[in-house]
Amino acid sequence: RPNVSRFADLIRIAARAAPQAAALVCDGRTWTYGELMERARRLAAGLPALGLKPGDAVGILSTNRPEYLEAYIGLQLAGLVAVPVNFRLAPAEVQYVLGNCEARGLIVEDQYSEAVEGLLAELPGLSGDAIVAIGEAAGGRLRYEELLARSTPLAEAAPLPPLAPAVIFYTSGTTGFPKGATMSHLNMLTRLSSWGWEFGLNREDVVLVPGPVFHGSFSGIALTTLAVGGTVILARDFDAAGAVELIEGHGITWSFLVPKMIELLTEALPPGAGRSLRGLLSSGSPLPQPLLDTILAKLPHVRLADAYGWTETGWLTICRHADLARGKRSVGRPGFGCEVAILGPDGKELGPGEVGEIHAANPVGFLGYHNNPEATKAARKGKWESGGDLGFMDEDGYLCLVDRKNDMIISGGENIYPAEIERVLAQHPGIMEVTVVGVPDEKWGESPRACVVLHPGEEANAHDIQSFCNGRLARYKHPRSVIFLEALPRNAMGKVLRRELRQRYAGEPRTTAA
Ligand code: ATP
Repeated sequence: RPNVSRFADLIRIAARAAPQAAALVCDGRTWTYGELMERARRLAAGLPALGLKPGDAVGILSTNRPEYLEAYIGLQLAGLVAVPVNFRLAPAEVQYVLGNCEARGLIVEDQYSEAVEGLLAELPGLSGDAIVAIGEAAGGRLRYEELLARSTPLAEAAPLPPLAPAVIFYTSGTTGFPKGATMSHLNMLTRLSSWGWEFGLNREDVVLVPGPVFHGSFSGIALTTLAVGGTVILARDFDAAGAVELIEGHGITWSFLVPKMIELLTEALPPGAGRSLRGLLSSGSPLPQPLLDTILAKLPHVRLADAYGWTETGWLTICRHADLARGKRSVGRPGFGCEVAILGPDGKELGPGEVGEIHAANPVGFLGYHNNPEATKAARKGKWESGGDLGFMDEDGYLCLVDRKNDMIISGGENIYPAEIERVLAQHPGIMEVTVVGVPDEKWGESPRACVVLHPGEEANAHDIQSFCNGRLARYKHPRSVIFLEALPRNAMGKVLRRELRQRYAGEPRTTAA
């Protein structure tokens, strides 16, 4: 009988070793390992009493709260499948996710209860008796605290088959409808354990989790910290000043943030602050060179890393501090147990420097997209998974990203990668942020359009921006039009919503003919 058959078992073991240690801090309150596990065990006993059976999917629709992490642990102990739902989704999208995963239960923060009630008629599998509301305004549904209070903590969780589903992470849907990537318990065990190992997390670490734990990366870092006996400082929401306070107040040693968060944080950090930080991990979107330079200058004692991966696979490659500091621009080399290959259209592996589609193989792959065999088939070639990015391996075995396959612009028969134009325009002193998208063009089929946010007080017109590309980019890559925006639309992970930009501004007239 295995002692560890699910990731939550590692947290149970950490709690047994040090029940009085601080596991979680949120909103100024601390939960010890003993308290956290007791609550998770109560949940694990309470949910089956509502009629839920092992293998049933249970949605979690909430902002960051301690209950969220309890739910990840409690659901695993009960053998239920956790389905974290992005709280920023519109009701129709929430309905899509809960319907697609055939959720039979739901843990919902009270602010979303009303919206969920309106969806129930379309979700026949979701019984009202298995809806539990976190917070005060439960809207007539069972309160989470009441469920915990009336349940006796689960004494012992039965071992689970290694390939039983543990979590379904829905992709953020920047390229289409969200797809439910199903992770087995064995997958979560290998993936999260390797993160602890790769980032050197241990029980002395105080880890800031500044982003939404419905996402596999933020929740994964939180759970990994708990498995090694460290302390999670869970931010309810990201704000730079709040993050600085948490870093200084709790002596944060390590954190994972998306580049936009790192940028705001480094701007907000007063001189001399952040002494407790030993490491920072950036991921989710490219780390711009100017930001990298700022971090290296402002936090010279911090070991920085840039990790690349997909919801489906977790982090695949890591560019470590020494490489970043010596100016090696890439997303690094494959991490623990991961293999990466660049495949051509015929499925053959390409050599160094040749651009193709990035494929990856984890030690334990994900089980596939829930209820979506076509998408699963399309993403797999033998042992290889594809995440839809284009890139190449350099001579030293470092992975270099070129762009997302779907973002590539084909203009007059030439392939243009928006990322390349963005890298050049990011060096324009007036530009704060820029994203390039392809828009329909009568003459060229498609042409690059730069969506630009200027630094406050800066003035630049489309011509200035286009002529900045002279000598820096081949003529056919110059943006043929420029749109000035107050801010770029972003999702909860700080990623620019290119699809939205393309749709929103596709019909806008050209600002200048280049
Ligand atoms: P969907 O698959 O639904 O469109 P998504 O692609 O945003 O959503 P994720 O799996 O969260 O879903 O994001 C993975 C993508 O994020 C990668 O394919 C890559 O394009 C980008 N990415 C991740 N890490 C990095 C990084 N370190 N540098 C640059 N880009 C990154």
